[in-house]
Parts: sequence; structure tokens; C-alpha cells
Amino acid sequence: MAELDDAELRAWREGVRTWLSTVAQPRTEEVRVWGEGDPDLQIFRVMSEEQERAYLDRVREYRKARFDAGYGVLTLAPEFGGLGLPSVYAVAFAEEEHAFDIPPSSEIISVTTGLVGSAVSVFGTAEQREQYARAFLRTDLLCCQLFSEPGAGSDLAGLSTKAVRDGDDWIVSGQKIWTSNAQFSEYGFMLARTDSDVVKQAGITAFLVPMDSPGIQIRPIRQMSGPASFNEVFFDSVRIPDAMRIGDVNAGWKVAMATLGFERSSSGSGHRRKGGTSADLIALAQELGVSQDPVTRQRLADVYVRTRLHAAMVARVARATAAGENPGPAGSLGKLVASDNLVRIGNAASDLLGSAMVADTGAWGQFAWSEHVLGAPGYRLAGGTDEVQRNIIAERVLGLPAEYRADKAPFSQLSKN
Ligand SMILES: Cc1cc2nc3c(=O)[nH]c(=O)nc-3n(C[C@H](O)[C@H](O)[C@H](O)COP(=O)(O)OP(=O)(O)OC[C@H]3O[C@@H](n4cnc5c(N)ncnc54)[C@H](O)[C@@H]3O)c2cc1C
Repeated sequence: MAELDDAELRAWREGVRTWLSTVAQPRTEEVRVWGEGDPDLQIFRVMSEEQERAYLDRVREYRKARFDAGYGVLTLAPEFGGLGLPSVYAVAFAEEEHAFDIPPSSEIISVTTGLVGSAVSVFGTAEQREQYARAFLRTDLLCCQLFSEPGAGSDLAGLSTKAVRDGDDWIVSGQKIWTSNAQFSEYGFMLARTDSDVVKQAGITAFLVPMDSPGIQIRPIRQMSGPASFNEVFFDSVRIPDAMRIGDVNAGWKVAMATLGFERSSSGSGHRRKGGTSADLIALAQELGVSQDPVTRQRLADVYVRTRLHAAMVARVARATAAGENPGPAGSLGKLVASDNLVRIGNAASDLLGSAMVADTGAWGQFAWSEHVLGAPGYRLAGGTDEVQRNIIAERVLGLPAEYRADKAPFSQLSKN
């Protein structure tokens, strides 16, 4: 990225580094030694509600300090409350942050700041920007993402939670699902159907919803890997003032697409490493005394090469972003390879451990691999499933013919309604 550095950016980086050194310690490169410390191979963190609240408090403290130092909203245009800096600044900030021991972000922080904060800044009224956008971007308030429904995940536009106009309010009824961290959120960013007599994308409206509104019920869903970080959220005639509508009536699909797009351009506050790595797998093979076995060696080499390939893809997307390009569908390649690698690493560890994988002997690090294996399927779904990434790659990268679409009639005439 050196070729993109100019004097101004270098000086800015220096300022970032100086500020970071006032709020965090330099990060020491983590070297995991077999048999020492916490083996932590969890993909989704297993925490009690109390631990999760304490952890979120730490992240929020950092995010507030970052916002107050002027580094909260780097790339958003000034008319929307951002600094309007080119993407290369966001990439530079993330690189500088990586050198410091800051609390790693979590999904609800990224959703609140990167997705909802940006969406309300861009699509909200001046009052909404004043009242909510800043509070989300600074993490004074947390906001979960109420998009998916039992019948609408990959096919998000098929959502059927209804909002019906009643004077100055809307009455919302329906169900959302997989809502990460709804139990810690003061607000939810919700998509609801406001017109069923048009094609499905054209009848959706976006709203902010106070999560303590009468008629909202949040029920945690326990994952097989242990935590209950996401939830079902039920709406039973929930009254929402029209003042909480984000964007025009029936313009919610545009808001939703832009919101998901912000995910790609949101900056910094690196996520923790997820699950076991190829290095952990090699250490396991060495510990079990099988690293010289020819078949095992081949498998280890395969996983290692795929891990390096993924790192190269991430670097390529970062370079494109820094150069102001939209990496577009190329982002799907990285997501697909990352989830595929997690599954491959988990499968290889399962084969190496054999029955010890399920009948934990208590030996150091063995149960940790079970946590990796149980978490990997969730990663294949979150943020767009593997199959959906493959469709995107097929249609938009390789230019193969698009899938047949049987859903072009008005929503009310589609067979599932
Ligand atoms: C950890 C985690 C956190 C999440 N957090 C949130 C959140 O905070 N807010 C929120 O709104 N949602 C959240 N989600 C939901 C997530 O967005 C959905 O799980 C995802 O979009 C897939 O939808 P689905 O689960 O309904 O599966 P479906 O869409 O029903 O898919 C079922 C299967 O069919 C396949 N499939 C579907 N369509 C196609 C197609 N066209 N071609 C080929 N195969 C297809 C899928 O790949 C999958 O294997 C979260 C999910 C996870 C796992």
C-alpha cells in the first residue's frame, strides 16, 4: 500500500498512532504454545450475559473515546456527519489499530456503528440524525438488525412482518429471527412490509424501533456451540411513531441494500480471530505425533495453502478499497474461502482427534476443537450463506446465466403467501 501513501496520509497516520498510544498498549504478536494458556478456538464466543455486558462496556468505552478523538466516522460524507475521507484512510486506521491491544469489536458494535449509524446518517431526517445517528456512531445506544425472518433470510425481500399505518403511527405485527444481541440493544433497525400489492422489493419500509416498546418479546436462541447470542423477536401490534421511519414509505429496499453495503466500507476495530487456524492444526498434529504421516502432511499442506490464499484475497480487497475502488462481488470470494477454511480445519481436527473429539478426555485443547467444529456451520450462514456467495460469484464474477426468478409478481400473489 506504500505507493498510495502521501505526506498528508503519513502525517494523519502518525496522529492516529499517537492517539492510540494514549488509550491502548502496543499489541504483542500472539504466539500460541501447545499446552499453555487458554486454548480459545471458539468461533462464536461462549459468554454468560453478565460477561457479555462487561465485554460490550469495554468495547463501547473504546469506541466512545475513538469518536470523541475525531476518528469515529472516517469515510461518510461531511453532509452526513462524517469526515469524508477517502477509503485509504479507513484502511490505514485499521492497520494502525491492529498494532494496538484494543478490545476486539463484536457483531452488535459493527451493526450499530457500521450499518445502522451510517444508514440513519444517510437516509434519516435532520432530527433523526441529531437524535440517533450520533448516538449509534458513538455507541451511546446499541441497535440490532431486525432483517431476517423465518421465511426470509437469503430471500430477504420476501419478508412478511407487516406495518400498517394508523394516524401518526404504524402498527407492526410479525416475527424476526437470528437477531444478534437484541437483548443488549436499546433500538432495532427493522424492515417491514407496508404494501403487498407490488413486487416484493417495492413494498418494504425501514423503521427504528425502541426494543422496550409494548408488544415486543425477545426470546434467546441457544446455539449448539453454547452461547445464546441471537434471538427471535416477536411483534404483537407494536405501535411505532411515523417519526421513527427511516427513508420514504416503500423505499426500505434501497435503505436495506445501502445498509448492507456499508458493511464493506465500515472501518477498523478489528475482529478477534475466529476459531482454530492452520497453525493450531499443525500444532495438534505434532502433539499427537502424526505430523510426519504422509496423508496427514498432505492435508496440513492443503489447509495451509488455502489459508495463505485467503490472506492474499483479503489483502487484494483491502488494496482495492484503499484505491477507492468498490471490490464488489470479489468480497464474496473472501467470505466463501474463509468459511470453507474453517470447515476444512475443523474436519481435519476431528479426524486427527477421532473419538476424543466427542468423548473429551480433559487433555489440554481437545474440547476447544469441539467448540470450533460446532461454531463453523454458523459462520457459513451469517452475512450470506456459502450457496448465496457461490451464486454471486457465478453470476457477477464469472458471468454465468442468472438463476430463474419466479417471484416477479406482486408480493400478495407469490405462492408462499
Ligand atoms: C451467527 C449469525 C448471526 C446473524 N445475525 C443476524 C442479525 O443480527 N440480524 C438479522 O437480520 N439476521 C441475522 N442472521 C441471519 C442471516 O442473515 C441468515 O441466516 C442468512 O441470511 C440465511 O438465511 P436463512 O437462515 O433464512 O437460510 P435460508 O435462506 O432459508 O437458506 C437455507 C438454505 O438454502 C440455501 N439457499 C437459499 N437460497 C438459495 C439460492 N437462491 N440458491 C442456492 N441455495 C440457496 C442456503 O444457502 C441455505 O443452505 C444471522 C445468522 C447467523 C448464523
